[in-house]
Amino acid sequence: MSMVDVRTDSVQDLPNLSMVAKFSVATRLQVLDKNGDECGPAQFSQTTEKDINQLRSVEEKLAQRDWRDLRKKLINLDLDNHQQIAEWLTQAGYVPKPEELDELKLARTISPGAESLEKARTMAEATAIEPNLYEWPESAVTNEIVAWLQSWRDVVRWLMDIKTERFRSAVNAAFALDEDMRVTYGIALQAAFEDREVKGLKHPVTDFLRALKPPAYVDTKTLAACLTGVGRGERLPAYFQWNADGKPSVTVHIDTPARAIVMAVHVDKNFSVRHWRTCDNCGAGFEAERGTHRFCSNRCTNYFTTNARRDKLRVLSEGDQEWQRLPAEKRKKFDRWEWISGWAKRNHDTQIDPAWARKCVTKGETA
Ligand SMILES: [Zn+2]
Repeated sequence: MSMVDVRTDSVQDLPNLSMVAKFSVATRLQVLDKNGDECGPAQFSQTTEKDINQLRSVEEKLAQRDWRDLRKKLINLDLDNHQQIAEWLTQAGYVPKPEELDELKLARTISPGAESLEKARTMAEATAIEPNLYEWPESAVTNEIVAWLQSWRDVVRWLMDIKTERFRSAVNAAFALDEDMRVTYGIALQAAFEDREVKGLKHPVTDFLRALKPPAYVDTKTLAACLTGVGRGERLPAYFQWNADGKPSVTVHIDTPARAIVMAVHVDKNFSVRHWRTCDNCGAGFEAERGTHRFCSNRCTNYFTTNARRDKLRVLSEGDQEWQRLPAEKRKKFDRWEWISGWAKRNHDTQIDPAWARKCVTKGETA
């Protein structure tokens, strides 16, 4: 009897199998260092019951993160405001590297009076307020972290802005880029090995950019990584299971907040009917429940409609003055309100309903 080898790298498709896909994001806090590099889950050496309870309540909060809401906050984040960035990082589930936090505390408490670093350290320990390990301090927001946030914030914003069709062709182009890079490196490597020069070898990213035409501020590397995967072009681990009714499902595991947000982009671009919009009044990004929503809030709706009405009244008033200037014979041939309506359309591209015009003018609202 021969041994059956179950180790295999071949992948089999399961056609016609309808499955529920679930996404699970780790509730562990993630360490982000001062260079804006993600360094894996945070380790805490909790000893007291108080510490353990505190960490547990933080993780319970992390389990309830709303990725669409965090994505919206990220897109609208004011990157000059370090306090706002610190709050976002806390909500998303990032903590600074413990050593860097210590350095920071020390630097802040060293007084000019301390004779030595050793003395300063003792003073720092004596005066340090109990730090909250689970909150991002504003002072730990570095320029590198801001740059990192900006590079993938811009990518997320652009991807949410483009239409589904364009999103799909962007995914396409990113995979083609991946393939082209491999081929190009192969050719270059082979040439170097044989000690000969290759001429006319262009960088594959040229084609990628030509196909996609992303705005100049979007970082190409981050963009490609967010299109072929959820930030680093890697595959995600998943568990396959079925419930008591035999209904199968796959749970995909995501380790970091940044990747969870990119995953939320892919989910909404490919499978959901949500509309990402830019508010017509304040310019903030928001999710519209219906395709017709133009404003992020009631406040913006009111503000805009009030202003729009004011603009319309101004056009009406101007149109009525033009009407008064017409020779009497000409006026006899037209209905005043119809004429003003036509004039507004021609000169200001503004829709004015004749009945509304009459009501406003007779009530003196244009005065
Ligand atoms: Zn708004």
